[in-house]
Amino acid sequence: MDTSFFTGWLDEIARLVAEQREHLTRLDAAIGDADHGTNLDRGFAAVKAALAESPPSTPGGALTLAGTTLIRKVGGASGPLYGTAFRQMGRTLGDAEEISLKDLATAMGSALAGVQRLGAAAEGDKTMVDALAPAVQALTRAAEEGAEPSEAFEAAARAAREGAKATVPMQARKGRASYLGPRSVGHEDPGAASTALVLEALHAVGAA
Ligand code: ADP
Ligand code: MG
Ligand code: MG
Repeated sequence: MDTSFFTGWLDEIARLVAEQREHLTRLDAAIGDADHGTNLDRGFAAVKAALAESPPSTPGGALTLAGTTLIRKVGGASGPLYGTAFRQMGRTLGDAEEISLKDLATAMGSALAGVQRLGAAAEGDKTMVDALAPAVQALTRAAEEGAEPSEAFEAAARAAREGAKATVPMQARKGRASYLGPRSVGHEDPGAASTALVLEALHAVGAA
């Protein structure tokens, strides 16, 4: 996977987030402040613009630029968290021009570690971690088993989607939704839902 693969992934995330903006905002209206869709749409539109303005020469450069842009353009909880995730991936990939499935699995593992270092959420706290952690696990397992990237991405996307679904019965213990206490139960976490889109985008570009 080369630089154009990663810029393609980021473009596809931007497309899906724009398409699902109202849905993500509705999820956040139920247990937050109804801005998650607009936050991420603004952020990933800015990522697309930044990639067009200063085309990166490496996969790591593309992901680092995305992360920096997200931190700059998206406020709230999700901006720094997503920004950290992409910057960690970029840093882990370094200057390499060609990325293997194993490299990507390692990079996503460091994205998860960065998110957890910053936000201190564990699995079961009803956050993006509930989608990201199973996706990392699925990607890592597939890479270790020598799966084709397309199969690995499909497994990771499915794990993220199932992880997001599984947040419905959870009570939030982190972020704004935790202020609702037991009233946060019965709704899908918006950040977990958007993380599922990030993995769905990977599957979409990886299957092409
Ligand atoms: P805000 O809550 O500041 O309005 P967003 O609505 O954009 O920010 O993002 C909310 C999402 O951020 C939540 O649905 C959750 O997935 C994620 N989130 C919030 N706090 C944390 C945390 N401490 N760790 C991981 N994810 C978190
Ligand atoms: Mg919000
Ligand atoms: Mg907000």
